[in-house]
Amino acid sequence: MRLKPVPLYLPDFNLQTLNTLAVPAKARYYVAVNHEDDLLAVVKKVNNENLPLLVLGGGSNIVLRDDYPGLVLHMRLLGKELVNENDKFIWLKVSAGENWHALVEYCLQYHYWGLENLSLIPGSVGAAPIQNIGAYGVELKDVFEELTAIDIRSGLPVTFTRDACEFGYRDSVFKGRCKDQYIITSVTFKLTKTPNLQLSYPALGEALASIETNAITPQQVSAVVCDIRRSKLPDPEKIPNVGSFFKNPVISLTQYDDLKLRYPDLVGYPVDEQQIKIAAGWLIDRGGWKGYEDGAVAVHDRQALVLTNQGHAKGDQVMRLAKKIQASVLEIYGITLETEPRVYP
Ligand code: FAD
Ligand code: NAP
Repeated sequence: MRLKPVPLYLPDFNLQTLNTLAVPAKARYYVAVNHEDDLLAVVKKVNNENLPLLVLGGGSNIVLRDDYPGLVLHMRLLGKELVNENDKFIWLKVSAGENWHALVEYCLQYHYWGLENLSLIPGSVGAAPIQNIGAYGVELKDVFEELTAIDIRSGLPVTFTRDACEFGYRDSVFKGRCKDQYIITSVTFKLTKTPNLQLSYPALGEALASIETNAITPQQVSAVVCDIRRSKLPDPEKIPNVGSFFKNPVISLTQYDDLKLRYPDLVGYPVDEQQIKIAAGWLIDRGGWKGYEDGAVAVHDRQALVLTNQGHAKGDQVMRLAKKIQASVLEIYGITLETEPRVYP
């Protein structure tokens, strides 16, 4: 039994192995939080000493441009609890430090359905709501019930419902109005007891074409998603990266029609009656950037949306290449690409 919280603050802590881009950067202080009690002590310290706080999960969606001048809180809270069920659904509460893909595998094992399209996304459960993670036609919001968090200023616990999270495309209230205000401690998922497969993405349909639709299982969907991802995306363990570096831009139908005249093979997907989502990877690829190398940073040769650290890149070098690509895409297509990972400091 623990008698009192004992967070251990490590000064000048090297974060290179804790970010999947593997760029070198030091935190002024680092603390790993394994117990919820420790959070209050950490919150007290950042408030008393007026320190900036970076909550770190798997480090797969951040770019450390330089040393971090504050406290890095490494979220390591673990645990899963089945909090409710009825004949159709189960509600699973999962601590923020759990690994995302391990959770997907756990759910597949226990026949809790809904996460299969989100297989093999790196990172932690606590970070998933931040950008409403999505892949292959499913987003976190589709399986989300609520989350718990600690208010950094007051230290008080708060619950956010789905509406309160204001989920959008790779977006949530935690990237906007509530940015840097909360430490997410758990997420509760509402999962189904009967599979409800989402196979609208062409790559999925093609890979499963040999199986009759009624016979496809969530495990097969997950396996196919993993296979496709492994074939297209660099494994951060081998080639450091943060996945898609830019969000897919959403443009007006008018702008899309103009561009389509110039680029008949432009790829776009309707968002609503007035807006179209454009594949950013296509814009970058057609801009001639695929496979481009700039010193230690490169544009991946199988997926132009991914920037890779070829060995000794620093965060500011990665950002320089990102800026060049943004300027080029703006010049060619008149479209502004938004960076997806959060850049620190
Ligand atoms: P981190 O990088 O540690 O943090 C990201 C942000 O969230 C930071 O601002 C951090 O402060 C904040 N944060 C983290 N945890 C908490 C918490 N507990 N409380 C408050 N704030 C917190 N994303 C997708 O959406 N879809 C994909 O298909 C996808 N594929 C990827 C593939 C690869 C190869 C890689 C490297 C990345 C991919 N990503 C994808 C991006 C990334 O995996 C996700 O955004 C993931 O949710 C980030 O989790 P993390 O724990 O690594 O977050
Ligand atoms: P892809 O299948 O080659 O498709 C390219 C883009 O077109 C995707 O970004 C996707 O948008 C969009 N798209 C394709 N089919 C669509 C459809 N039927 N309806 C609406 N949009 C469609 O993409 P990929 O690069 O191999 O990635 C596959 C999935 O994994 C995508 O969902 C992607 O977002 C996700 N992924 C995300 C990251 C990340 O770091 N964020 C990294 C790797 C993969 P969406 O991106 O909106 O789905």
